[in-house]
Amino acid sequence: MKISIVGTGYVGLVAGACFANNGNNVICIDIDKEKIEILKKGITSIYEPGLNKMVLDNVVNGNLQFTTNIKLAVENSDIIFIAVGTPPSDDGSPDLRYVFTVAKDIGKYMNEYKVVVNKSTVPVGTSKNISEIIQNELRKRNSGIDFDVVSNPEFLREGNGIKDFMEPDRVIIGCADDRAKDIMTKLYLSIVLQDKIICMSNKGAEMAKYASNAMLATRISFINDISNLCDILGVNVEEVRRGMGSDKRIGDLFLNSGIGYGGSCFPKDVKALMEISNKNNYNMLLIEAVEEVNKNQKKIFIKKIIEYFKNFNQTLNGKIFAVWGLAFKGETDDMRESPAIVIINELLNSGAKIICYDPQAIKEAHKIFENKVGYGTDKYSILKDADALLILNEWKEFKEVDYNIVNLNLKNKVIFDGRNIYTLKDMIGKDFDYISMGREPIYNCRE
Ligand code: NAD
Repeated sequence: MKISIVGTGYVGLVAGACFANNGNNVICIDIDKEKIEILKKGITSIYEPGLNKMVLDNVVNGNLQFTTNIKLAVENSDIIFIAVGTPPSDDGSPDLRYVFTVAKDIGKYMNEYKVVVNKSTVPVGTSKNISEIIQNELRKRNSGIDFDVVSNPEFLREGNGIKDFMEPDRVIIGCADDRAKDIMTKLYLSIVLQDKIICMSNKGAEMAKYASNAMLATRISFINDISNLCDILGVNVEEVRRGMGSDKRIGDLFLNSGIGYGGSCFPKDVKALMEISNKNNYNMLLIEAVEEVNKNQKKIFIKKIIEYFKNFNQTLNGKIFAVWGLAFKGETDDMRESPAIVIINELLNSGAKIICYDPQAIKEAHKIFENKVGYGTDKYSILKDADALLILNEWKEFKEVDYNIVNLNLKNKVIFDGRNIYTLKDMIGKDFDYISMGREPIYNCRE
């Protein structure tokens, strides 16, 4: 099928590469000229496992093209996806201007029937707005060309984008028209079986996306609340998770305690839901608490560091902290709303010095911290002379660690693990203290 995808970020690029890999003819469009020039050479602008090869293969075989020319893309495709950002405005509501700009361009250049598919996360009613904007543009040029607007929210996780896109739990197709529904079903049947395709109204699809992200964020805040009580009562939260998660009604996914969720989706979508409900004179009390608990987790982590050093009558002033993990989670380079930003800034404000390492996020970190922190090129070298190691995300390479090298390099022998990446059993008897979340501290060194 002839497809164009407007917005070549984490969602647009993964979707474009996957559709092209399945034999479709795909044009990816972005306003960022630099990004498009690099992509034309088959080099990806973001880190996503397996994406580089998939993009290169499909550029070479001609299935995948990149351009900044939206007119060309609209004219030459039957299905046009909108996959631009919907960042939060100052009041937390999603900024829809990028979506609406694209809708206007589509209306301007539409030359025959098109299926316009919105993949960006948007409030209920946005598909109707998109439809009106396109209609308005068509009216300006006295055109009666027919089109349909489909809401097709995306559920991929960064770091697992290709697998999630190619093996989704479900594909939601929100639309009122049978012709568009059939075209979308045909497209997705090259990826999933029919029973994974859920058709519904546009409004239902738009709300299902926010509700899904809010539910996942709720699970994380829920386990963090439990984890904080575990800390007080001396209970191991991992045991609680196992006990809870083995109940089929609950399951154990998204029940990892730590320093809270971040990234470009959960924080923004939780805030958006709150704002949308407030605007409609309804207070989502549960969602407000989810956000509050999440904010608090970073403070709890920092408090653990302060308390530890207080025991030696020391403050954080002048301390050197080695940080493993800057991106909002492992296996990605995305630092949007990363808990590491809040924690590092707080430590800097307390007079501490930071040297950090992340397998993929250093380039992004430079833009945020500039020269306020030091940067390392590997996980072990930054430990030299550090007063503690802080683990802020769960990259696989942090889990696979040589404890002897850690021990040899750390000046002061303590690890603060904000993601519980090691088991307590593994930490007993090591030559450093180990402080984690919702689990009793292990003092191997401290008296
Ligand atoms: P992103 O910021 O990575 O990419 C958006 C891209 O759109 C950028 O490259 C930007 O230059 C481009 N753009 C903006 N205006 C444009 C225009 N007028 N024409 C062409 N290109 C334009 O965003 P993302 O993370 O891919 O997210 C896109 C949407 O998908 C958001 O609504 C987000 O909430 C949702 N979503 C994201 C994820 C995720 O994991 N990142 C998962 C599911 C859903």
